[in-house]
Amino acid sequence: MSDAPKSAELFERAQRVTPGGVNSPVRAFRAVGGTPRFMVSGSGPYLVDADGRQYVDLVSSWGPMILGHAHPAVVAAVQAAAAGGLSFGTPTLGEIELAELIIARVDAPSLQQVRLVNSGTEATMSAIRLARGVTGRHRVVKFAGCYHGHVDALLAAAGSGVATFAHPDSEGVTGAQTAETIVLPYNDLAAVEECFAAYGAEIACVITEAAAGNMGAVAPLAGFNAGLREVTYKHGALLIMDEVMTGFRVSAAGWYGLDPVEADLFTFGKVMSGGLPAAAFGGRADVMGQLSPAGPVYQAGTLSGNPVAVAAGLASLRAADASVYAALDANAHTVGRLLGAALDEAGVAHQVQYAGSLFSVFFADAPVTDFAGAQACATWRYKPFFHAMLDAGVYLPPSAFEAWFVNAAMDDGALARIADALPGAARAAAAA
Ligand code: PMP
Repeated sequence: MSDAPKSAELFERAQRVTPGGVNSPVRAFRAVGGTPRFMVSGSGPYLVDADGRQYVDLVSSWGPMILGHAHPAVVAAVQAAAAGGLSFGTPTLGEIELAELIIARVDAPSLQQVRLVNSGTEATMSAIRLARGVTGRHRVVKFAGCYHGHVDALLAAAGSGVATFAHPDSEGVTGAQTAETIVLPYNDLAAVEECFAAYGAEIACVITEAAAGNMGAVAPLAGFNAGLREVTYKHGALLIMDEVMTGFRVSAAGWYGLDPVEADLFTFGKVMSGGLPAAAFGGRADVMGQLSPAGPVYQAGTLSGNPVAVAAGLASLRAADASVYAALDANAHTVGRLLGAALDEAGVAHQVQYAGSLFSVFFADAPVTDFAGAQACATWRYKPFFHAMLDAGVYLPPSAFEAWFVNAAMDDGALARIADALPGAARAAAAA
């Protein structure tokens, strides 16, 4: 008997018409097993599934929902925009306002223009095309364990040596598509310098997560992002700071607000569109000016700058004031502290690691600074831990390699439920 009979029934039905039953892989619970929960509604810090069970949500739609679910101001803005027409395929005022707001919030001298797209994947794909177009160079450097969406050239795993060319990380991606991608270990500036010494004149750009959140939370070591800036500048390559996950979440200005390194291009998504599909990339006017129709680098989108998505983004960013960021920080640290205490009590070796208000737990004795370290953790402990939390009404990311996302709507009741759930989950992790 499934503990989630309606979700189980829906999952079976979904698998008939959708590959693996889901529209994005991690939702299928492959890493943790069991029945993925089909959610029917969300309000504040809670989600409700098809069986009527309520969960405190520590995924927050993988980042966007910093205000919690169905925030009244965002819902009202979306309803008003929808009533005025869903899509025009023309420029609109809202797009200017969102671009102005993104630029003003980040307040980086190098962020002068942005273009709106529909997903983080499109943002990074377009930023890389632009970097290649601007520099006339072909190679791209990325870091192992950083995820930038399902762009062919970025679905690449490291080769055997440090600065060797990458292998495809997915069937359907050809060796030719990843041959110009170089994958280096995260947080290893010496590897970056060595790579540039060998291939500097051919490297169009380095793309990095502003702070890594896709192998669990792994912040850049002090000076790492600044070091990337220095090396790329010296060799005439562009630096792309991927703030899709960190942007407007870890501070009002994103990671840039905590560690102001001037990238040539920034990518944004998630929070900036309040839960609807929109994303952006931006940079200096001379670089962005190379995009079509102003310049020769082609990029386009039927629904780009969609008025409903833009309204959701504007309302979310406008509502995300200093009190929201204070709540995100406080909630992250409260949950992290409770988590650490429960694991200590159960005798499980662990690291609760933060990148601003992004955080996650590694079952390891020492801090994790790169993907090899993340992979070497006792990840098998996560599955029983996850299910104990789920059974107790707390929805965690269904993978050990994902960051946990708090929202500002978490109240004492939500935090109390997490506090009550953790000791049992920690004991389950200990027994694994
Ligand atoms: N960059 C980063 C840092 C991300 O975390 C993600 C998605 N999690 C993406 C890009 C891709 O965004 P999307 O899923 O909207 O394509």
